[in-house]
Amino acid sequence: MNKYWSGLAQSLEPYVPGEQPRDKKYIKLNTNENPYGPSPRVLEATRAAVDDSLRLYPDPTCDMLISAAAESYGVSKDQIFAGNGSDEVLAFSFMAFFNPGKTIVFPNITYSFYPVYASLFRLDYVTTPLDSTFNIPSDQLMNSSGGIILANPNAPTGKALPLSAIRDVLAGNPDTVVIVDEAYIDYGGESALGLIDEYPNLLVIQTFSKSRALAGMRIGLAFGDKELICALESVKNSFNSYTLDRLAIIAGTAALRDKEYYRRTTEKVIKTREVFAGELRRRNFTVTDSAANFLFAAHKSVPGERIFTQLRERGILVRHFKMPLIENNLRISIGTDEEMAAVLAALDSILSE
Ligand SMILES: *Cc1c(COP(=O)(O)O)cnc(C)c1O
Repeated sequence: MNKYWSGLAQSLEPYVPGEQPRDKKYIKLNTNENPYGPSPRVLEATRAAVDDSLRLYPDPTCDMLISAAAESYGVSKDQIFAGNGSDEVLAFSFMAFFNPGKTIVFPNITYSFYPVYASLFRLDYVTTPLDSTFNIPSDQLMNSSGGIILANPNAPTGKALPLSAIRDVLAGNPDTVVIVDEAYIDYGGESALGLIDEYPNLLVIQTFSKSRALAGMRIGLAFGDKELICALESVKNSFNSYTLDRLAIIAGTAALRDKEYYRRTTEKVIKTREVFAGELRRRNFTVTDSAANFLFAAHKSVPGERIFTQLRERGILVRHFKMPLIENNLRISIGTDEEMAAVLAALDSILSE
């Protein structure tokens, strides 16, 4: 930092993503990537798109992707916005719907990018505490002056709120926007997407990084009333006309069209998750019921940080948050059955020391 930094740049505390190590090969279960990779049709379509047309700018409206999403989800095109990963869609949403001077509300334990965006856009926020079993107290998310954001299923707990609770939050904040971040929705939660015709204050955000195995392509979507989508487009077109590149638009479109592949791989992850949860419980872990592609678990006697470090030494990366209330928990992404067997073998060796 020096005198050339703006006051804003000096004030920032940036988000720290899970590491993408290059020193050696790890079993990488720290950023909730999909172990199965994108559909072969996605790879084929993307490869076929690498040609001379890359000299041209992409379609700024991402029409092909948005049409495919409209068809896939049964909503109209003007109810969909596409961005460079859902992180970007979230950032645009903070700009489009939240106002400095009005306080936004989110849970105290949730996706740690929310407070970072709030600071970047100089928004005030308060957090509501989860209960002792990591449930979001939805009755505390009422009458916010600035708006609400929540992840459903929540991160890093994996716990999902039922649709009835989302409805209550929407009805309890008729004058502000409620953003529901559904990054993990395909792994077992109830999507609020079907409510966008009913609630003009609802914005649902989804990503292609988890269940669609395209984290490297950076694709996110938002669904909501067309007035909300217009606001997002207005923000985007004041920032960067081409947030999705040509290959991302092609890959995302192909992914939306190969439902069968993604149904199958998502089911595999869910099955592995349930078996792995049972194995962790047998080893004296408290495991939160997860509707996501990861488990949030704490051992009853061994500190989380110690397990994290020892797993890392054994070539296994998981996520540990040095934060009050959850410092004993590990967030372990669900990989292949073989990867999870390796985690269990490593845990057995760590816990027997
Ligand atoms: C992974 C994740 C995102 C970010 O997704 P990208 O589309 O890769 O930017 C957003 N919200 C939550 C809760 C996530 O876990």
